[in-house]
Amino acid sequence: MRDLIIIGSGPAGYTAAIYAARADLKPVVITSSVEMGGDLMKTTEVDNFPGFPEGVMGPELMMNMQAQAERFGAELIFDDAVSVELEGPVKKVTLGNGDVLEARAVILSTGSEYRRLGLDDEARLSGFGVSWCATCDGAFFRKRTVAVVGGGDSAMEEATFLTRFADKVYLLHRSDNFRASPAMLSRAKADAKIEFVTGVTVTGIQGTDAVSGITLTETDGSTRELAIDGLFVAIGADPRTALFADTVTLTEAGTVAVDGRSSRTNLAGVFAAGDVIDPTYRQAITAAGSGAVAALDAQHYLESAH
Ligand code: NDP
Repeated sequence: MRDLIIIGSGPAGYTAAIYAARADLKPVVITSSVEMGGDLMKTTEVDNFPGFPEGVMGPELMMNMQAQAERFGAELIFDDAVSVELEGPVKKVTLGNGDVLEARAVILSTGSEYRRLGLDDEARLSGFGVSWCATCDGAFFRKRTVAVVGGGDSAMEEATFLTRFADKVYLLHRSDNFRASPAMLSRAKADAKIEFVTGVTVTGIQGTDAVSGITLTETDGSTRELAIDGLFVAIGADPRTALFADTVTLTEAGTVAVDGRSSRTNLAGVFAAGDVIDPTYRQAITAAGSGAVAALDAQHYLESAH
């Protein structure tokens, strides 16, 4: 039986893998079959990860973390965890290919998933003008008009990035209060291609084969149409807990509940790290730090259980 299975391959999962591998726990990382490396694989420059004075591309940072984990002997499995049994001393994780892995400890570092607007045509037009990733899809909108929904750092980053391609970028936010950091907000505001429209909610998406426009509802209830070719949804993310929400205790915010500053969940031998436990900070560096904590907690648990 293995010592440790790590589910998820963002900064938390890979950092946990680096620490656990160096402690000779021979961890196996279940990376996911499609989104290995987590959300940073979809970003461009990361300017605030310490150690990179000139910034680093998100995918490069993640590839480096992966290589560092593998250098110390972490095993990577490029598949999804589709079900888990986390109670009791032997933890079982079933993969998409049907294999069942067993280990004495598990670290849950499944991150978060993008929020949806919840509109009827959102799923139908996903990939046909509705997107959650400017880095992935921005180039399809060369010389076009696009809109970004949201008022946080993600929305500012997406809008600023999209000006590389689009002629016009609307930044749509439901209020005048922005969660975005002052630096990212002022950069977007200073961009001549970005037009801020506040006090509006997107209540409809039009388009037969591809997005042709959206309906905006003002705070007074009046509506108007806006012709656009692409809609980028950047309204935050929710912790990805569906895999284990029936057995692992969650907080009111929907994150995995951990004991104090540790990574210990309600189940012995089950630890959690990264965005899945963090309703507040959600930075690559805080996720990485949290991954280190989880590996150390798992190591102590395994040592005391021997
Ligand atoms: P945030 O939670 O910070 O912001 C979400 C935004 O979307 C808010 O403005 C919110 O509005 C709005 N919103 C939420 N739900 C809806 C809805 N249903 N309809 C319309 N608008 C909605 O999420 P982000 O993804 O922007 O950022 C998450 C974290 O990642 C933050 O800590 C951020 O700093 C960090 N980040 C850092 C980056 C960097 O430093 N380079 C880049 C990107 C993210 P309201 O305020 O009204 O609730």
